[in-house]
Amino acid sequence: MAFRFNFSIDESENYEPDTQDKTDLQLCSPKHKQEPTEKSKQTAESVADSSPRLGTDKQRDETPSKKKFCFKAAKEHDIPEDLNKILENKVMETVSGLYYINVSVVEMTCLDGADGEGIVSKSVSSRSDLIPGVYEGGLKIWECTFDLIDYFSEAEIQFTNKTVLDLGCGAGLLGIVALRGGAEKVHFQDYNSTVIDEITLPNTVANCINEGNRMGSGDNRKISKPPSKRPKKADCLPDVLAKCRFFSGEWSEVSQLLLSSNKPFSKYDIILTSETIYNPDYYSVLHDTLAQLLDKNGRVYLASKVHYFGVGGGIHLFEKFVVERNVFRTSIVKIIDEGLQRCIMEMAFKDSS
Ligand code: SAM
Repeated sequence: MAFRFNFSIDESENYEPDTQDKTDLQLCSPKHKQEPTEKSKQTAESVADSSPRLGTDKQRDETPSKKKFCFKAAKEHDIPEDLNKILENKVMETVSGLYYINVSVVEMTCLDGADGEGIVSKSVSSRSDLIPGVYEGGLKIWECTFDLIDYFSEAEIQFTNKTVLDLGCGAGLLGIVALRGGAEKVHFQDYNSTVIDEITLPNTVANCINEGNRMGSGDNRKISKPPSKRPKKADCLPDVLAKCRFFSGEWSEVSQLLLSSNKPFSKYDIILTSETIYNPDYYSVLHDTLAQLLDKNGRVYLASKVHYFGVGGGIHLFEKFVVERNVFRTSIVKIIDEGLQRCIMEMAFKDSS
């Protein structure tokens, strides 16, 4: 089954948050409920047009709320030994020179029981690409991901020997580009464990297996051959995959997990994040996570719509928030004017070189 749902948030109604992973009952505030909107089909080819459509233009208060955000415990996902199992029953496509798993097929298997969190069925029944605190949109590829990929080439962003975090990764294409660009290590984080298991990990594995030695070589030329719908078989764990780690959970939880882990952790040289500032309720935790995890001379590259109609977030509100916190300096390095206006923002610590 393939679908594209709209954001359409009616703040007067409460959405009941997922009870499975929560330990704090004052979660998810405000709670949202999806307004009924038309349900449209999303073909695998339409990923590049997967912008969130917000049916109503109800704007929130212009001040990001201090209400409690949603809690989801953090977890590290091990890379299964049998890589072929990860790609079993998956169908592969390519976009922007990268392999990705067809999400419609994943959704079908998830509806058949492969989705411990039940986010596909919840997304279907609430007709939404986003259920705050339950499902944060990571199954599909959002258009600002492609803006950021284009920006990497235009600005000649260097990933060689860098430590990189793809924060709110969804499909993980940004991290995969960094991996291909020669990053020393790439960590992927998504709110939902289903997204990591069913989308991010398979996408990463598909690129590592199919691209072989090119991954990690710094060679960012586009894939020239048409993809085989069935991924190649993996004989062993490609070296490049050993550079990756995968995490699910809410940002502050993941940050705590990383900082308190027994495994050695060095702060990231580069944090990449696309379409993660739609909800002003998350600004505080997002800001603090960036501040905790970025190396003192590191850079954040953030891609976003200028305004998320109906949810209230957007680049100006986030920038204002960051300026008030006085920790980072920000600069809008690119504006994309086609369709909904979008932009790329670079962030660095105020006292960095
Ligand atoms: N970056 C992907 C893209 O551009 O295709 C996915 C964008 S999706 C709209 C937003 C992502 O942000 C989700 O995949 C989710 O993992 C992450 N996210 C949003 N709020 C979060 C929160 N409070 N804690 C952890 N992750 C969050």
